Amino acid sequence: MFQGFRNDGHKKNEIHVAAMGLKLEGYPGSGTFAHGVHPPDHKKLSKDAAIRVMPTPEMVVLALHQNIGGPCDPMVKPRQTVQWGELIGKGSTFVSTTLHASVPGIVQRPVRVTLANGRHMDTLPIKTEGELPSGQDLWDEIFGGDWPTTGLNAYEPTQISRDINDAGLVGLGGAAFPTHVKITPGDKKPIHTLIVNGCECEPYLTSDYRLMVEAPVSIITGALLAGRSVGAERIVIGVEDNKMPAVAALKKATDGTGIQIAVVKTKYPQGSEKHLIQAVIKRQVPLGGLPSDVGVAISNVGTMAAVARAVIHKKPLTHRVISVTGGGIVNPSNVLAPIGVSFGALIDFCGGLTPGAARMVAGGPMMGFAFANPNTPVTKGTGGLTVMTRDEVNAGEETACVRCGKCVDVCPMNLVPTKIAMASRHQDIALSRRYNIMACFECGSCAYTCPAHIPLVQLIRVGKALVAAGGI
Ligand code: SF4
Ligand code: SF4
Repeated sequence: MFQGFRNDGHKKNEIHVAAMGLKLEGYPGSGTFAHGVHPPDHKKLSKDAAIRVMPTPEMVVLALHQNIGGPCDPMVKPRQTVQWGELIGKGSTFVSTTLHASVPGIVQRPVRVTLANGRHMDTLPIKTEGELPSGQDLWDEIFGGDWPTTGLNAYEPTQISRDINDAGLVGLGGAAFPTHVKITPGDKKPIHTLIVNGCECEPYLTSDYRLMVEAPVSIITGALLAGRSVGAERIVIGVEDNKMPAVAALKKATDGTGIQIAVVKTKYPQGSEKHLIQAVIKRQVPLGGLPSDVGVAISNVGTMAAVARAVIHKKPLTHRVISVTGGGIVNPSNVLAPIGVSFGALIDFCGGLTPGAARMVAGGPMMGFAFANPNTPVTKGTGGLTVMTRDEVNAGEETACVRCGKCVDVCPMNLVPTKIAMASRHQDIALSRRYNIMACFECGSCAYTCPAHIPLVQLIRVGKALVAAGGI
């Protein structure tokens, strides 16, 4: 949800895909979408920081519900010893997935915690005890070694999907949708294209960028396996044109595989699934529909690297790359950390807070969640921690709407945010519905651009909750 990120004016990056001579053969998209905003990206803080491996923390706290869909049922009891990667939770429904110990140790008494998104959740804490590879050894164990890009026909589509579920994979781009549900064969809707999302359009965050630069072949192997599982004829990786070193690394890794790279225009929210599909294949996902309605499966680059590990090495998701950045962090970094580590431990690993640190956000400032408790644990969907200074935060006071229409101009879903927000404010559910409130995916573009500092996304969010609850 929009976190009061300061609007420094639009800084346009006008490099067109065609102008760069990289227009894709066979793809009708123009490399961009209508509307959106150009917030300052602040990626220079951490984009050149190679991924560092965090030492094993003394404790992790693993939420039993880390994905869209159903929670996990715990498979272990307090005082039980678990090994690194051991199954500790099993999905309760098809749209759910498994959970694994991210460190070796002793399971503690379950506790209920508040996650960064404000949801209260049952957890399994694990006190570390025993050996876990560290430093380069852990990196090599997770991303190193040879990743095959040929001979993958030996992997059966249904088995690929099963391996993905057994490994507990969810979309690592933030949505945390169980990956085996997306990457599953035999769906009634045929998939012709797998789009791998390497846009990372959220300001500040650079974890996907670093992964594309440092571990491109694992991403390619995962994409080939996922493409095989869904029966896609074509695989294309979408990357924004402010990440050309990643494009170069991926181009080298895709050599001879038939995978194409779509260099799309840098604009927020280019990383939204619907807008990336629009930019690449010029198809509009119907309102309330899914990418599969237009024959597309779409998944994030980090998820693809995890798919490769799950299928080739039968290893579960226990760690992920997280950007720890913002003017409030002493050494902005990209960190390979265990799921369940606390945000406070990540901050300590990155040198602590600067004197001006003012707001902690799980994720980036456009769609992330502000939270206050540094003991809050990281979940599978956490791609970043952004600590903004007072200067970076927009502390403007809300004033009356001046009817400038800017929020309408930037909304990538062609909504009328000001009217939806006012309907929500007055708890007029029928009116909110008429304005298509549920089509809002809370990108924050409207709030970012609003000169009256109206908390448009917060209001819309409340309205969506009322609609979901059946109105009042
Ligand atoms: S109304 Fe929703 S989708 Fe449109 S700009 Fe605002 S937050 Fe984004
Ligand atoms: S941008 Fe803000 S001030 Fe302008 S119309 Fe929208 S809500 Fe009103």
